[in-house]
Amino acid sequence: VIDRGQPEHSVVTTCAYCGVGCSFKAEMKGSEVVRMVPNKDGHANHGHSCVKGRFAFGYATHKDRIKSPMIRKSINDPWQEVSWEEAINYAASEFKRIQGQYGRQSVGGLTSSRCTNEEAYLVQKLIRAAFGNNNVDTCARVCHSPTGYGLKQTLGESAGTQTFDSVMQSDVILVIGANPTDGHPVFGSMMKRRIRQGAKLIVADPRDIDLVKSAHVKADYHLKLRPGTNVALVNALAHVIVAEGLANDEFALARCEVASYEKWKAFVGEERNSPEASESTTGVPAELVRQAARLYATGGNAAIYYGLGVTEHSQGSTTVIGIANLAMATGNIGREGVGVNPLRGQNNVQGSCDMGSFPHEFPGYRHVSDSETRAVLEQAWGVSLESEPGLRIPNMFGAALDGSFKGLYCEGEDIAQSDPDTQHVHAALRAMECVVVQDLFLNETAKFAHVFLPGASFLEKSGTFTNAERRISPVRRVMPPLAGYEDWEVTQLLANALGYPMNYKHASEIMDEIARLVPTFTGVSFAKLDELGSVQWPCNEKAPNGTPTMHIDEFVRGKGRFLLTEYVPTQERTSSRYPLILTTGRILSQYNVGAQTRRTMNSMWHSEDRLEIHAHDAEQRGVKDGDWVGIKSRAGETVLRALITERVQPGVVYTTFHFPESGANVITTDNSDWATNCPEYKVTAVQVTKVAGP
Ligand code: SF4
Repeated sequence: VIDRGQPEHSVVTTCAYCGVGCSFKAEMKGSEVVRMVPNKDGHANHGHSCVKGRFAFGYATHKDRIKSPMIRKSINDPWQEVSWEEAINYAASEFKRIQGQYGRQSVGGLTSSRCTNEEAYLVQKLIRAAFGNNNVDTCARVCHSPTGYGLKQTLGESAGTQTFDSVMQSDVILVIGANPTDGHPVFGSMMKRRIRQGAKLIVADPRDIDLVKSAHVKADYHLKLRPGTNVALVNALAHVIVAEGLANDEFALARCEVASYEKWKAFVGEERNSPEASESTTGVPAELVRQAARLYATGGNAAIYYGLGVTEHSQGSTTVIGIANLAMATGNIGREGVGVNPLRGQNNVQGSCDMGSFPHEFPGYRHVSDSETRAVLEQAWGVSLESEPGLRIPNMFGAALDGSFKGLYCEGEDIAQSDPDTQHVHAALRAMECVVVQDLFLNETAKFAHVFLPGASFLEKSGTFTNAERRISPVRRVMPPLAGYEDWEVTQLLANALGYPMNYKHASEIMDEIARLVPTFTGVSFAKLDELGSVQWPCNEKAPNGTPTMHIDEFVRGKGRFLLTEYVPTQERTSSRYPLILTTGRILSQYNVGAQTRRTMNSMWHSEDRLEIHAHDAEQRGVKDGDWVGIKSRAGETVLRALITERVQPGVVYTTFHFPESGANVITTDNSDWATNCPEYKVTAVQVTKVAGP
C-alpha cells in the first residue's frame, strides 16, 4: 500500500471506465490525488465502487503519459517533439492539402466513448463544419450501434428505458449476453442484492458467468446457448409467450401499432420458431426455454439487461429488436422494475452517440437528411451542412485502401487494437497520408500516426459523461492538464487553424450550446448538475429535472412498433479446419484494450489474457492447463496460454482482450451486423493447437 499522506480537499467527479458512471470524490493533497473515494451521494453508485474506479488515478500520472505534441513526415521516421502551434498548424495544413488534392470527402474523424459529451460534440462539429462532410464515427460503432438502431426502430429512442435503481423493483431479471459482475461491477452487485431478496434470474449466455452460480446467487435458468444463436433463442422465447397465450394483449394493442403486433404474433407463432425446432440451433433444451419464457411473461415485473453478447453479432440489431418485442408483448416497459436495459461498456458510449458522433445523425439522433434540423444547425454553426450520411469506420478503412480516404483525426480511440481484423485496419492506416492521434499514451494506433496531440485524462478536464441509464454526470477538473490543454481546447485549436472559428472559454459554454440545439438537453447546464448532482435525459421544459423512466404513457415514437426477427445463421461457420467457436469478453480488474488499467494497480490481479477451453477439447489436443496454444482463424493467428475450465461448453473457447500482445483481434473477422456494421467479435471459427510458446 502506498501512503500518499492525508488529503486536504476533495473534488467530486465521475469514473471514466464503464457505463455505470460511478460518482467519486478525488481526495487531494495539493494537486496530487491521494485516493478516490466512492461518493455516497452518487445517484448511480450510492457510495459503492469497484476495483477499477478506485485505482483509476494511477494511469493519469503514469510515466508513459505523453506531455508534448509530436510530428513526423513518415511513420518510419522517429517522432519529433514540437510546440502546440507547430503540431496544430502541421495537422491543419495536411488536412487542407489532402482535401485540396483528393476532395472534401477524403478526410474524417473519430470521437470516442472516452471523450466527454462536450468533446464529442466539438469533434463532430469540427468534422461537419470545418471538414465540411459527415465522415464522423465513434467507437460505439464497434459496441452498441445495434442498440441505437434497434431501440430507435421499435421504441423510438436510442437509449435504455430505466434507472439502475429500478432493478430493486424487479421480480424477474433476464440477463442476455452480458456479464454485469465483471463488466459493470457496481450494478452487478445491486442486481445480486435484488436476487438475494428473491427476484428470479434467467441468464442467456454461452458461458457460466458469475451470475449463473456464485457463492451468493444462482440463476433459476441458464440458457447456455451456442454463440451466434441469440435471435433463434429470443424467437423461441417469444413463441412460447404467444403460443401459450401469455402475451399482454391489452398493453400491446393499446400502446403499439396493432398491425405490427398481429404480424409479429403470426411470425413467432410459426412452428419453426418453437423451442423444439430451435433446439438443434441454440443447443438449449426446449423445456428449459419454455420454463424461462413462462417466468419472464408471468413472474411479475420483468426486466431485460443485455450487453455486447447481444450487439456484437451479424444479427446484433435483430436481437435488440427481438428483446424490445418481448418487452412490448408482455407489457414489461414504461414503469419501474421492467424495461429494456443495454449495459453500455464504456463510460460515455451513450453520450458520444447522443452528441451526433455518427455519420448519419446530428446531435440528438436527428438524421442528416432532416432539413429542419439542418437549418437550425446551419444557422447556429454558420455553415451549410451535408444531407448525405458520411463514412462509417469500416467504410473509412475500405476507402483508405481504395485510395479515396487519406486523412483521419482520431481522438481517444485505439482502432489499431480494438477494431476487428487487425491486419486490414493496419493496412488502411498505412494507406493514409495524415493520421492525427489525440490520446494519453502512444497507443497502437499512434504507430501509424503522423501527428500526436497529447490528451488530458478525466482528472484534468471538465465536462460531462452520460451513463447507461441516460444519466448526465459532472466530470470536474481535479488537476491541471499535464500537457497544457483539455481535449476540447485542442479540437478548438485545430478548428481555428483549419479556418473555422471556435471561441469557447470553458466546457460549460459547449454544454450551453448543446442545450440550445438538442431538444432532449434543453434543461441541462453545469449549474443544474452542480445543484442536482446528475440528471437523466430527456431534461427539458417537460421534464426540468430529467426523466428516470421512459415510455410511461406512450412510446417516444408514439406507438411501439414490432418488427420481425428472422434468424439468419452467421457466415462464420465451423469446419473440420476451424472446429471451435471463439467468443470474447472482459474481466473485472481490467478495462477494454487495457491502455488505462494496465497502467494502474489493477495489473496485480490480472496480467495476461488466457484462452478458456473445455477439458474435453483440451484433452483431444493434448493441452494441459497453462500450456501455450496457437489459435488460428480465417483472418489470422495468435498465441495464448490455456486455461482449462468447464465455464465454457465443449466446442467453444473464450478469451479476454485486454493486452495488445495477446492479439485477440488479429483473429476476429470482418463479419458485421447487417444494419450497423458492428463487428461480430463474439463468433469466430478457430483451430486450437498446442505450441511451444510465443
Ligand atoms: Fe463504477 Fe464502472 Fe468505474 Fe467500477 S468501472 S467504479 S462500476 S463506473
